[in-house]
Amino acid sequence: MEDKKWYFLEAQEACDALGTNPGQGLSAIEAAERLRVHGPNALKKKPPRGLLSMFAAQMKEILVLILLAAAVISGVLGEWEDAVVILIIVILNAIIGVIQENKAEHALKALKDLTKPSTKVVRDGKVIQMNAEELVPGDLVLLDAGDSVPADLRLIEAASLRANESALTGESVPVEKDPEVIKAGQVSLGDRKNMLFMGATITGGRAKAVAVETGMKTQLGRIARLLDEAEIEPTPLQQRLAKLGKILGLAAGAIVVMVFSIGLWRGENLLEMFMVAISLAVAAVPEGLPAVVTIVLALGVTRMSRQRAIIRKLPAVETLGTATVICSDKTGTLTKNEMTVTSVYADGRMFQITGTGYAPEGELLDQDGSGVSPAAGGSLNLALLGGLLNSDAQVEATEKGYQVIGDPTEGALVVAAAKAGLTRAASRQTSPRVAEIPFDSDRKMMTTFHRMEGFIRSFTKGAPDVVIQRCTHVLLREDTIVLDEGKRRELLEINSRLASQGRRVLALATRRWQEVPWSLAPENAERELTLIGFFALQDPPRPEAKEAVARCRRAGIRTIMITGDHRDTAAAIAAELGMLQPGHGSLTGDQLEQMNEEQLKGAVNRVAVFARVSPEHKLRIVEALKYHGHVVAMTGDGVNDAPALKRADIGAAMGISGTEVAKEASDIVLQDDNFATIVQAVEEGRTIYNNIRGSIQYLLSCNTGEIAAIFASLLLGLGSPLSPIQILWLNLVTDGPPALALGLEPPQKGIMERPPRNPKEGIFSGGVGAMILWQGLMIGVLSLAAYWLALRWGRTLQEAHTMAFVTMAMSQLAHSFNVRSAEQSLFTLGLGSNRSMIYAFVVSAAALFIVILTPFLRSVFDTAMLRPSDWAFVLGLSLIPLVLVEISKLRLRRTTVPGA
Ligand code: ATP
Repeated sequence: MEDKKWYFLEAQEACDALGTNPGQGLSAIEAAERLRVHGPNALKKKPPRGLLSMFAAQMKEILVLILLAAAVISGVLGEWEDAVVILIIVILNAIIGVIQENKAEHALKALKDLTKPSTKVVRDGKVIQMNAEELVPGDLVLLDAGDSVPADLRLIEAASLRANESALTGESVPVEKDPEVIKAGQVSLGDRKNMLFMGATITGGRAKAVAVETGMKTQLGRIARLLDEAEIEPTPLQQRLAKLGKILGLAAGAIVVMVFSIGLWRGENLLEMFMVAISLAVAAVPEGLPAVVTIVLALGVTRMSRQRAIIRKLPAVETLGTATVICSDKTGTLTKNEMTVTSVYADGRMFQITGTGYAPEGELLDQDGSGVSPAAGGSLNLALLGGLLNSDAQVEATEKGYQVIGDPTEGALVVAAAKAGLTRAASRQTSPRVAEIPFDSDRKMMTTFHRMEGFIRSFTKGAPDVVIQRCTHVLLREDTIVLDEGKRRELLEINSRLASQGRRVLALATRRWQEVPWSLAPENAERELTLIGFFALQDPPRPEAKEAVARCRRAGIRTIMITGDHRDTAAAIAAELGMLQPGHGSLTGDQLEQMNEEQLKGAVNRVAVFARVSPEHKLRIVEALKYHGHVVAMTGDGVNDAPALKRADIGAAMGISGTEVAKEASDIVLQDDNFATIVQAVEEGRTIYNNIRGSIQYLLSCNTGEIAAIFASLLLGLGSPLSPIQILWLNLVTDGPPALALGLEPPQKGIMERPPRNPKEGIFSGGVGAMILWQGLMIGVLSLAAYWLALRWGRTLQEAHTMAFVTMAMSQLAHSFNVRSAEQSLFTLGLGSNRSMIYAFVVSAAALFIVILTPFLRSVFDTAMLRPSDWAFVLGLSLIPLVLVEISKLRLRRTTVPGA
């Protein structure tokens, strides 16, 4: 297909060709119509697996194949009933597997939809944030550093714009972009400087552009053909289970051979021994486990998403539970990011501004509390005007009150100006912006240039320590005074005083230019400035953050604040939140810069606050913490945070303020930008892992019980206590529901009162292996006892099998309630606290009784109707696991919690 040469057209011509007004954008009606014509702005994906192919995959499982072979052999030997029952059990098992897998896949896919990229678009003259899939050709798109380019775009405006186009060109060095028309005939993709392409990311600057192609018509769409759905990565536990599955598979093979040999040696019926051996192999492998684990993970991840933590990479669920350190940004994560200017320092005086929130209602007060009129002149007026002109945020009245679109820090400056009667529209009219150097977290300042009063004036706002360094003068009333060392120190002290009250302080400086400087490089355009004054902004800590910090402390998790803000501001907020513990101090980016890796490793364990750091420092902090064996969770939002987010064990990106690049690099997205959400996710992570371990413990102890009973019985020359079909029924039907229900156990009380789990510990550590063994043996002995006694009491073989079968199934079901907690009594937990356990019990018990109480199934399953006294006996036996395990838990509580 021939490319339309959008780069060849002037920006205005491109807009005309697309029917777009470069100020207003498209209308909503027009956009809806274009969406209908062009379709969604998305690359086509390969269709997901259908139910049938999932079913086919289940049928290819090695164990299923063995069972199918067993069914065929039984059929050939004339045992039609067995053959049919095996087939039914296999099909039932596969159907349950498909249902579970399908449910898990849906849950995980729904999560992906929650993290779909969004983009800022101008429609009907209003800036809106919308799902990038709804973008249409002709839409006006606004982009900032960290955004992904949502479609192919022709630039209209750009300021210091750089984009990484490696996805398309393979070139990983960011390229500079500007809207200048290119009048060459044919230009390669990499040289189309006035275009942005889908799949690229903005690494710096700002842009306004018009969408020229969307979806599969973009350059990326043409080369990408069909995107494969990203595979869902298995978690470490799933990987370990896969290995365990292989080992158990081998064990199953060995069991088949052994049982068969013992049978031969004991002179048992060959066919029966063959069937017993195969069913035992089935018993040895916990076939339901992978499905149970996947579904428990999927449900857990869905629960987390309801608590506003979106898991992007599945392994993070487990890693969260092992986190030992959480490094968190301050602004917006630990604080509310609701900024209000409370005072302005100008002309050597501190003015107060009243009013809260973003409503433009408040007064300006002088030091003595009297009202001031900024119109009276002086530097206060210039400070408020400069703050307004230098900000991009807009404050709008909505149904929910006044809201900021853009950076809340800037929103606060806009509101402060509004309280003095200055509006954005009027000031932009009289002092239009002609150039700018956008904000970035490394420079910690930004500059805009305005044509006003016949010359060019620049305003620079940013971190006071940085801005003051660029100043040579300070404005004092109408005079400009040289900024000598004494004055500089005095100003820094004022900054420090405001900061120690927890205020975020911004300095504002200005400079007159004859014309816009020839080079907008910061070294050239942000120097020899004249300081106008300071703004002190209040940003209250989030109330829930304090409790979350305390929870972390109880859970053995360190919390560290990493912020671009001033050390004193950061320390004041950290102290208020309880993050600064005795013996812990703060470190600034400058100090960190002076340290080598060894020194940082030595210091990192004593630092609770890293202040005035650049995003690059975060990576070094993560490395130093990891060196000490910490499992590090790290938050981030900007484009430069991506390397640290990737390197951290758990990278947590901000959902609201986070850039697309940060989200892409993260394992989890905090939809509400809230620190408390990470802590909540850690609790869920711990719970999910515990629960999965519960399911494993249950399934493996059941399997151990079955194998122990059959082995012992064969060795004692009593034949198998369970018929092959009964073993299959236990394994593939009645064991499943309780295992799943155990995975749904709610978080247990003390889960955040104990230290994090060691990520290296295996599935069987912490006594789980021993519990599986003794509890399994207990179930096995009970079932064997029932069988042996039945034979001694002269019951028929069928009755004896049935008694062993009922004891095995019911004691397993009773035992499932034990597994809910390793140390807490069932009486403390309460039966109702996990209802699914009760449903599972009812379903599994029904599956058991149906094959004994229905006459037709009795013959198929080789069971007999028991006498009332035998019923009472086996049901009584089945309660023994409850009693024994309760006693062992009591002993455990006595030894671990003295006096409990
Ligand atoms: P955190 O890392 O906790 O989110 P932060 O928001 O202070 O903290 P940055 O956004 O990197 O971190 O800002 C660093 C510093 O840059 C701020 O302390 C402030 O002094 C200055 N700053 C922040 N936003 C702006 C802005 N829009 N214009 C000019 N300077 C700003």
